[in-house]
Amino acid sequence: MNRKQRKMLIRICIAVVLLIAAIVIEKTGLVRRDGTFGFAFYLVFYVLIYLEIGYDILRKAFRGVINGRPFDECFLMAFATIGAFALALYEKSGDYTEAIAVMLFYQIGELFQSYAVGKSRRNISELMDIRPDYANIEKDGELLQVDPEEVEIGTVIVVQPGEKVPIDGVVVEGRSTLNTAALTGESVPRDADVDDEIISGCINMTGVLKIRTTKAFGESTVSKILELVENASSRKSKSEEFIAKFARIYTPVVVYSALALAILPPLARTVFSADGGAMWSTWIYRALTFLVISCPCALVVSIPLSFFAGIGGASREGILIKGSNYLETLSQSKTIVFDKTGTLTLGVFEVTGVHHATIPEEQLIEYAALVECSSSHPISKSLQKAYGKDLDRSRVSEMEELSGLGVMGTVDGRKVAAGNIKLMQRLGIDAGDCHSVGTIVHVAMDGEYCGHIVISDVNKSTSKQAIEGLKAAGIEKTVMLTGDAEKVASKVAGELGIDEYHSELLPADKVQKVEQLLSQKRSENDKLVFVGDGINDAPVLTRADIGIAMGALGSDAAIEAADVVLMDDDPLKIAKAIKISKKCIGIVYQNIIFALAVKFGCLVLGALGVTNMWAAIFADVGVMVLAVLNSIRALRA
Ligand code: ADP
Ligand code: MG
Repeated sequence: MNRKQRKMLIRICIAVVLLIAAIVIEKTGLVRRDGTFGFAFYLVFYVLIYLEIGYDILRKAFRGVINGRPFDECFLMAFATIGAFALALYEKSGDYTEAIAVMLFYQIGELFQSYAVGKSRRNISELMDIRPDYANIEKDGELLQVDPEEVEIGTVIVVQPGEKVPIDGVVVEGRSTLNTAALTGESVPRDADVDDEIISGCINMTGVLKIRTTKAFGESTVSKILELVENASSRKSKSEEFIAKFARIYTPVVVYSALALAILPPLARTVFSADGGAMWSTWIYRALTFLVISCPCALVVSIPLSFFAGIGGASREGILIKGSNYLETLSQSKTIVFDKTGTLTLGVFEVTGVHHATIPEEQLIEYAALVECSSSHPISKSLQKAYGKDLDRSRVSEMEELSGLGVMGTVDGRKVAAGNIKLMQRLGIDAGDCHSVGTIVHVAMDGEYCGHIVISDVNKSTSKQAIEGLKAAGIEKTVMLTGDAEKVASKVAGELGIDEYHSELLPADKVQKVEQLLSQKRSENDKLVFVGDGINDAPVLTRADIGIAMGALGSDAAIEAADVVLMDDDPLKIAKAIKISKKCIGIVYQNIIFALAVKFGCLVLGALGVTNMWAAIFADVGVMVLAVLNSIRALRA
């Protein structure tokens, strides 16, 4: 509990004690009500309790009126309770407890709400507690703690066991195990050794690591993630907008209805019969009760909280959702379109053969690896690995990457091209046919074909299960789009049980295919999700209703272009994200329906005079508490 909440709790306790004291004084006959002194004594006593418990509400209501925004909760509460007070005065009943009780319950409700909201927010931030406070730099044999923002790229930092890795980099010395749970939700530890890339936000568990930073702090994974999460709540979903709009229209409507309720029935009675006069206070009382019931706070509070909890719950699983609007869209997804390489497959290719080589095999691989040296495509990394030796980058110039085709460049003064059959066709080179199933990298030098390297990728171990999981989660259609060869595509699609696949697509063709699929949708509410690794598919990620990026551990382009980021590249998380979104949206609807049903029922009862103000405030606070508790459920994925 913070200071403000503690202060409120004390105010509530004081009000309760004073209220009991007032009742005891009256019941024991210490001060009698009849007579001017008694009347004044109780009036002053109750007004003081009322002000003690409600002064801030009155002040806010007053400010609202002055600022031209009168119809808020505080106004409703202030108006209803002052009205109840005035009515008690007018009737000389001396029953001021009602106005005070309404204020008291309202404040108890507010306190609970601020406590619950604060607590779940804190829970979420604790989960996201990955912000490093310092980085260690070794200087003259001593460790110096510095602000990570000040560490320049290329600096060697030291991470001791138990510390968070503050900045992305490469291990230059040491060996350890890393806990990536805060980033991926996965508690399986990862090993780190010299030359391994390390992302910030992991916790170093066993050994001391020296890491050469490859990024500035602001560009490191941790900063990117925190930025995402912090901005998530500012993107409002349709449900949230609906509630905000609803509250803007709803409150004035209620206030005017209450006014009508107070005036019209007694007016009618006065006109049509002689005994109308006595009706006024009854109807005014009903109108005030009506105002108390109508407070929309359960909705206003619980809905943003549900979304917030949903996003928090997802991030605990290593699923970053960039806004509540995406949570809503995700829950309506019907079609999932996948990229192949790096998304469904590992993107780690092994060379399985070299065919039709007109130059020594070793040399073919060397030239391919050299011309690929600046590409970030998984194929490039695999060729470099297959070559196995250090690459002399000075031998390469004019390197150009053609998305979905391959690369071209000059190596040792000779024009080298490495890529798929389409690239060869484009260059007018006659390429040898290949019968093996695999991704084929054709190599040409100075316009002459000099053979191809067959490489093959493996499916991610969880891909098949992920597709099954999606079907179980209500996805109607799965589609795979790839720039790879038909044979490879049909093999992967068959193995994984994907409904439909399209192969040999350039990035622009992928966009076209997605557009075609979008136009085939049966209804506006069927959403299309694209899942990719951000390499060659950033345009599609943005074009789909929702873009989910794999490989937050690798590519920055993916984080930028996607709406949802899976921290550990595991396709199983897609179904999980959809389940979380469905649960969260379900909770939102439960709260809307529950709150509106109770409200509406109470309003009718209030208008008929069946409920009094006590019951009304109970219903109001009760609904709010239940709705908030329900919202918090969204945190548990
Ligand atoms: P996917 O759609 O399966 O993710 P990409 O769009 O990344 O595949 O690439 C499609 C095809 O383009 C690859 O299968 C490969 O034949 C070729 N290609 C793309 N980039 C390269 C590269 N750097 N080197 C060689 N071939 C490449
Ligand atoms: Mg790809």
